[in-house]
Amino acid sequence: MKILVTGGAGFIGSEYVRSLLAGTLPGGPGHTVTVYDCLSYSGNLANLEPVARHRGYSFVRGDINDADLLHEVLPGHDAVVHFAAESHVDRSIDGARPFVLANVLGTQTLLDATRRAGVGRFLHVSTDEVYGSIESGSWDERWPLTPNSPYSASKAGSDLLVLAYHRTHGLDAVITRCSNNYGHYQFPEKVIPLFVTRLLDGGRVPLYGDGGNVRDWLHVSDHCAGIHLALTGGRAGEVYNIGGGAEMTNKELTGRLLEACGADWSSVDNVPDRKGHDRRYSLDIAKISTELGYAPKVSFDEGLAETVAWYQDNRAWWEPLAKKSAL
Ligand code: NAD
Repeated sequence: MKILVTGGAGFIGSEYVRSLLAGTLPGGPGHTVTVYDCLSYSGNLANLEPVARHRGYSFVRGDINDADLLHEVLPGHDAVVHFAAESHVDRSIDGARPFVLANVLGTQTLLDATRRAGVGRFLHVSTDEVYGSIESGSWDERWPLTPNSPYSASKAGSDLLVLAYHRTHGLDAVITRCSNNYGHYQFPEKVIPLFVTRLLDGGRVPLYGDGGNVRDWLHVSDHCAGIHLALTGGRAGEVYNIGGGAEMTNKELTGRLLEACGADWSSVDNVPDRKGHDRRYSLDIAKISTELGYAPKVSFDEGLAETVAWYQDNRAWWEPLAKKSAL
């Protein structure tokens, strides 16, 4: 397949591209990739360095709101895998407009361009945050969307547009909704790389509120395997949840990160809670497991050890980014 990957220079998109070209995703090798990315603050060509000379790889610097460039680039592709988005909740609280522009308008522009170019399949990468917050039990894909942050509201808007283009225009589209990802190459503003990079430097880390918010953690390689299963075997117009089965409170997560980095609770600052902070996320992944044979392979212990070791060994990658995100 010839696949156009939007946001392929970001954390998850670049993992997808590296694995696709390495042939390690379900179904093996044989794909070619065009990465389409505007290289915003979180987009980084260093993430694609391992595949930069692969003959199946090409890169186009472009915005998903640039309809003319999309019309030039899209024809000839068999599928679009759409990662490009503004993705950090705290930034959306500071200012929601870039989130609406990229996530809602950008997705609509991309959907139109995909349809006009006659591209076969559209895989939209979304998040469990569109469901809101759940006290007990888990969401399946039929739950109503009740997003609480400007980020999740903009992602919910993009999900609804994708479903509308399927219903209205017959676009062959599939949506995946995933829990919190972690792993190598994650921009050091998200909690795990933020804590690891600060703790490795002997610095302090902030814990929101009472630390009781629960998240489900998934290694980025398992997310990418789930996306590829949905791309290649998912039914058009359907949504598939992708989870990791590693639910824990932020306080438990902090304890694990302190231990992994050789620090203790004296390095933690308790800070006021994030505005509108969702209390708990929990996904039911029965649909993708039974229909497409998905199962996460990387245990949290194994994934966390690998991630901490990667940040220890790759200071040249994250030190300039940590300085940039602290400005
Ligand atoms: P990221 O911020 O690391 O990467 C986003 C990429 O999109 C960057 O390379 C950026 O340059 C690019 N981009 C942003 N706006 C663009 C635009 N207008 N045009 C072209 N490119 C643009 O984010 P990530 O963590 O890799 O997330 C990727 C996708 O996965 C997002 O859609 C996000 O909502 C979703 N998701 C993320 C998580 C998570 O835990 N990180 C969980 C579930 C779903």
